[in-house]
Amino acid sequence: MTAARCYEGFVLPMSFEQELRSRFGLDAFHPWQREAVDAVLGEPGRALVVAPTGGGKSLTYQFPAAILEGTTLVISPLVALMEDQVRSLTARGVAATYLASTLDRADRDARESAMLRGEFKLVYVAPERLGSDVFVRLLSRCRISLVAIDEAHCIAQWGHDFRPDYLRIGALLERLSPPRVLACTATATPAVRREIKERLGLGTPEAPCREVLRGFARPNLHLAAQTVDGKKEARAALLEGLEAALGARGRGQPASGGAIVYAATRKSTEDVADLLTDRGWRAAAYHAGMSGEARTRVADRFASRAIDVVVATNAFGMGIDRPDIRAVIHVQPPASIEAYYQEVGRAGRDGREASGLLLCSGADISLRRRLTELGSDGAAADPALAARAWGLFRELLRYLDARTCRHDFVLRYFGDEQETLGGCGHCDVCLALDGASPEEVDGAASARDEETTLFVKKALSAVARAQRRAGLVAIADMLRGVDSEKTRKFGFTSLTTFGLMRERSSDWIMALLRALLAAGWIDLTPTEHPVPFLTRAGADVMKGAAPARIILPPDAAPKERRSRARSRASASREPISLDAATQPVFEKLRAHRAEVARSRGVPPYVVALDRTLVEMARARPETTDQLLMLHGMGPARAEQYGAGFLRVIADA
Ligand code: ADP
Ligand code: ZN
Repeated sequence: MTAARCYEGFVLPMSFEQELRSRFGLDAFHPWQREAVDAVLGEPGRALVVAPTGGGKSLTYQFPAAILEGTTLVISPLVALMEDQVRSLTARGVAATYLASTLDRADRDARESAMLRGEFKLVYVAPERLGSDVFVRLLSRCRISLVAIDEAHCIAQWGHDFRPDYLRIGALLERLSPPRVLACTATATPAVRREIKERLGLGTPEAPCREVLRGFARPNLHLAAQTVDGKKEARAALLEGLEAALGARGRGQPASGGAIVYAATRKSTEDVADLLTDRGWRAAAYHAGMSGEARTRVADRFASRAIDVVVATNAFGMGIDRPDIRAVIHVQPPASIEAYYQEVGRAGRDGREASGLLLCSGADISLRRRLTELGSDGAAADPALAARAWGLFRELLRYLDARTCRHDFVLRYFGDEQETLGGCGHCDVCLALDGASPEEVDGAASARDEETTLFVKKALSAVARAQRRAGLVAIADMLRGVDSEKTRKFGFTSLTTFGLMRERSSDWIMALLRALLAAGWIDLTPTEHPVPFLTRAGADVMKGAAPARIILPPDAAPKERRSRARSRASASREPISLDAATQPVFEKLRAHRAEVARSRGVPPYVVALDRTLVEMARARPETTDQLLMLHGMGPARAEQYGAGFLRVIADA
């Protein structure tokens, strides 16, 4: 990135990278640091950064502070940390100081006068200082170009580290209205993130705050994946997905935002672009076989919103700076989870709701197999490379098959096990698990959970009992109760787990075992003949110490299941009768739900089911634990929306 990109409020004679090297002695930003710095310096000028301690959060405000004109105010609760940072900044030639009650009066006065004269690039203050009206008045006379709030979770009453002094920050921001605000923290669940944004007044519907999470949990990205029968089904899903993301639209009208559709070959990008144009979308193909000029034209038209959809091979993406991409849809799968995440990560850079849909058919898998066998020159690839490429693609297939939260899956894949959310609450798997799909509006959810837990525990104990002696197929045979030479050889026929799933097909049991693999509850030994074993997370689930949040593989007779679901759904559509005392509470809850749904761009049933609101109006829960007792209120929903509902009830 060069200085050609222009931000208001500062002049940079060299590139960010040169500045980073000369000023901070670092070679490169971590990608998320770069994203945060861009969000702070450019649009929207509001960011919330979540990264682990020691991850490098301070650079995301120190770097902007160093190049911005004016002063950056850093609010931090830890005086020792302030001293450290001030010392190392000063050593690098960045003028910095801190103000805390540990300083003697004269020293503090001297520092404050220097601050007023604009002598510091960074001033660290403890939140208690904001209680002094004199100090706040002084601040309002300084040129504050950025306010950074460290340990921002301290503002959250919903959190674990609440500090009342932090509540003053919201008023301070209102008074100073600084052009840029950055909040950072090492720990923030979705509920705490929301509370931080609310209390700091970060972001409006027009200019939402950018959330940058180290790793890959993009909170505004709704992930979904779907296995399709073939081209026809993929196209139907594509058209549906586009319409859901960009809105049903009249011919030729600009859509609200853009979309990128990825396909695996040049030919299919052209076919799909034709299809979309036929259907009235302003779309164009983009691939490496086009002339440089033609490609630039497409990229420019997309950037200037003259077209809404680009159908591309993976040649497209680098340098796409359109923030309002509402959907990234893969009609064919990319080569790996890394590639997928990079491509889907182009959606929703503006921080608003966006979706990523991955489609894959059996033919696509064969196609990918052939592609991995080919080297870049079209000749046969080095076998070792081909095997590696195939292994990477198989990981993507596991993602496709995932029966646990997709965000968590990706976090685990990238080794961020600690940061998994225990369900994001808005991917397709979480929505199904929380009973949010309209088909599942019924009381069978808890019965289904029990059934799921039972199957998962049975399968996990079978894996434990096999004691790394046998592969997945033999374990599936054990569960099915197959009395064969193989199962006898392993001694499976005399185990208590033998025949526990007699009524299930071997395909179904294999699908369940694969789902346990994808969930990280079992793993395979890295040996020539890999055998499954129980992981620590799997042991927790088996003991009942962690929930079995997973969707069971579909039954052999899906039709029957669907009709059952429908009749249940219609049964629950009976008119709701509430007495005079509960009716007003219900109305308030419903109004609150509508507001939350609108502000987050999700349908109301994602926030809470009608039935949940009825139960809530009757039971009037006061705590999260009580909330969790209600129908349809899973941990993900309670986490994301619980605080708001509790507030409405308390006020009612
Ligand atoms: P945090 O504030 O997230 O707890 P710090 O900002 O104190 O973490 O950074 C921790 C360490 O990581 C520091 O020693 C810093 O120099 C180093 N660091 C930060 N960013 C980078 C980077 N892009 N490349 C290499 N080291 C980095
Ligand atoms: Zn999820």
